[in-house]
Amino acid sequence: MQQKLKPLFIVMSAPSGCGKSTLIDMLLQEYHDLSYSISCTTRAPRGEEENGLDYHFLTKERFEELLAQDAFMEHALVHGNYYGTLKAPIVEVLNEGHSMILDIDVQGAAKVREYVRGLPDTDPLKIGYVDIFILPPSMEELRNRLVGRGTDSPAVIEKRLANAEGEIARQHEYMYQVTNDDLGVCYKRLCDLIDALSGRM
Ligand code: 5GP
Repeated sequence: MQQKLKPLFIVMSAPSGCGKSTLIDMLLQEYHDLSYSISCTTRAPRGEEENGLDYHFLTKERFEELLAQDAFMEHALVHGNYYGTLKAPIVEVLNEGHSMILDIDVQGAAKVREYVRGLPDTDPLKIGYVDIFILPPSMEELRNRLVGRGTDSPAVIEKRLANAEGEIARQHEYMYQVTNDDLGVCYKRLCDLIDALSGRM
């Protein structure tokens, strides 16, 4: 007999260089009932980015129209461009009995948390809500990883490390903290957590 799993709304944050994107990709490969929340933005697509896959690329007018309709769970203006998380796709996925994962920074996560807190206790989003913060083993290790990636200049690395400190200081706003000391071990901890919370045991 097929188990009935609790649909989860998983909000995940991590400083840059903690392996969050890799972990999310691994989860999406393994959990076929898990969808990835695609953000909206008014910035132009970069490189190979595809509309509806990396982001929903919207005009400023369309974004503001959706804002006026209260369609966003949260939004932010970053370097002159809007970014936002639509409510409807998340509600739809949870109502279908599936889970959704939202990859968002600490400030965005705080807005989502506030939004969910204001929902009735019977709302599937509130019932399935869980937020997780991925930690680096240490600041030194995070620095080594950022340097090892070879994608950022020393100045950008210093900026990322300073941002990371500010984000890590807010880790206790999250229900769970999982350290990515070893990718396989961290992934297993995440799977165990998701399985326990969704009742897949
Ligand atoms: P990028 O343009 O490099 O893809 O993202 C720029 C910034 O926007 C990043 O810090 C990213 O975390 C943030 N961002 C992306 N999507 C969203 C979203 O849906 N909501 C918020 N608040 N920020 C987002």
